[in-house]
Amino acid sequence: MAPLKPEYRINPMSVRTRVAPSPTGDPHVGTAYIALFNMVFARKLGGKFVLRIEDTDQVRSTDESESMILESLRWLGLNWDEGPDVGGEYGPYRQSERSAIYQAHAQTLLDSGHAFICYRTPEELEALRAARKADGRHTALKPSDLMLPAAEVEKRKAAGAPYVIRMMVPEEGKCEVNDMLRGTIELDWGQVDAQILMKSDGMPTYHLANVVDDHLMAISHVIRGEEWINSAPKHKLLYQYFGWDMPVLCHMPLLRNPDKSKLSKRKNPTSINYYKRMGYLPEAVVNYLGRMGWSMPDEAEKFTLQAMIEHFDIQRVSLGGPVFDTTKLSWLNGLWIRESCTPEQLAQKLRDWAFNEDYLMPVLPLIQTRLEVLSDIVKLADFFVAGQLDIQAEQFEFGKLEALQVRKILQYSLWQFEAVRSWDRDTISQSLSGLSQALGLKMKDFMMPLFVAVSGRSAAPSIMDAMVILGSDMTRARLRHALDVLGGPSKKEAKAWEKEFRAMEL
Ligand code: GLU
Repeated sequence: MAPLKPEYRINPMSVRTRVAPSPTGDPHVGTAYIALFNMVFARKLGGKFVLRIEDTDQVRSTDESESMILESLRWLGLNWDEGPDVGGEYGPYRQSERSAIYQAHAQTLLDSGHAFICYRTPEELEALRAARKADGRHTALKPSDLMLPAAEVEKRKAAGAPYVIRMMVPEEGKCEVNDMLRGTIELDWGQVDAQILMKSDGMPTYHLANVVDDHLMAISHVIRGEEWINSAPKHKLLYQYFGWDMPVLCHMPLLRNPDKSKLSKRKNPTSINYYKRMGYLPEAVVNYLGRMGWSMPDEAEKFTLQAMIEHFDIQRVSLGGPVFDTTKLSWLNGLWIRESCTPEQLAQKLRDWAFNEDYLMPVLPLIQTRLEVLSDIVKLADFFVAGQLDIQAEQFEFGKLEALQVRKILQYSLWQFEAVRSWDRDTISQSLSGLSQALGLKMKDFMMPLFVAVSGRSAAPSIMDAMVILGSDMTRARLRHALDVLGGPSKKEAKAWEKEFRAMEL
């Protein structure tokens, strides 16, 4: 018999939810999806919705990513009551500004014996894991594996060796975690390691910062993706160690590609920027995200955010993996354009989207020298406004490049762009020239497939400037489309290419 779901008594006055993105990349549709359900849950119950930036990974977090996340959530109309930009009484809302809080809490755990200082080196950790594996045990390292004799600790301390702070965890047994949608989940302590709480750079890990902040920010319900279920035992234990009540947990099903694999940018555009640039309406995107695992009581396909709030009931979330299918999204977007826009509103939407000076100003200098009459603009600048281009495989036949090279150029450039952190002309140009050298090709030849993929023609005004204007997401989507038109790498090729690409050390 399925375990009964515990009853959740909700005090509307104290409902506080949060979305807690890490600003380490593009604003992901998955973030918008989780933000939507947190916001709707809070609004329905008259509570508050908080935005917290989890930027404890100092290497990967960027200000640019943070502002894109804020901008895209706002574009979707998912407004928060408290956050780094709007303030609130539980701030600061950016974890990098809360270091002293985490240090104090880590010290509390050290003092109470619930955490310990660990001087183990990476080599030792590897050896300890290998030893467990050889014994047929799970490789999660336990305090008993990690603790060093007191004299050794003193020696390393005196030598100023780097250390981390780890939490104590049980060696074995079952951990029960309650989830609003899944009832009681049983997890095995045997698979839970003595999690690092404070890194050697003095920054907290996700687990410590997340628990401390959810408590201090009085979060009542943690609605997040199911990929975090395995963290729940550690979090539960931390709440116990601190003597705090744990918020109610609710793990939402993960968004999936149409082939049911986890939604990933390798198969689908996952950045909100892409959908915005492509000309999807925010109302339609929010509507579609609202249908990911949830449905209106009357099963209506098209509904507003307001209607979703009015009819929201979290228990209507179904756990089967919701598929994020851009074809369905396009269909729904079409409904919104046809049924919910007057011609005047449509004109305004087109202006907001691309027919405005902000968007056109950087385009015009690139084509002005070629205009004879103003109407030439349509044929010269079409690809700056278009979404996917109508390109044919024959356009990629170049005397100087073999078909295999063409596909490699497209795929390697795509991988290269996925790793680019700041999308500007210099970075694009450097990464492409590095790649052309690594492939032993002249830059002129190397660029030919990129011209066709990005502009739909073999000669275009500066293609790198065009990429900057189109943005990373649209540029990548066009490369992906070109690869699809050419049949992409086969499975076998993809593996070999990836290996070759990694070895290039670009
Ligand atoms: N920073 C985490 C993320 O990037 C938050 C996970 C959570 O909601 O606990 O998704």
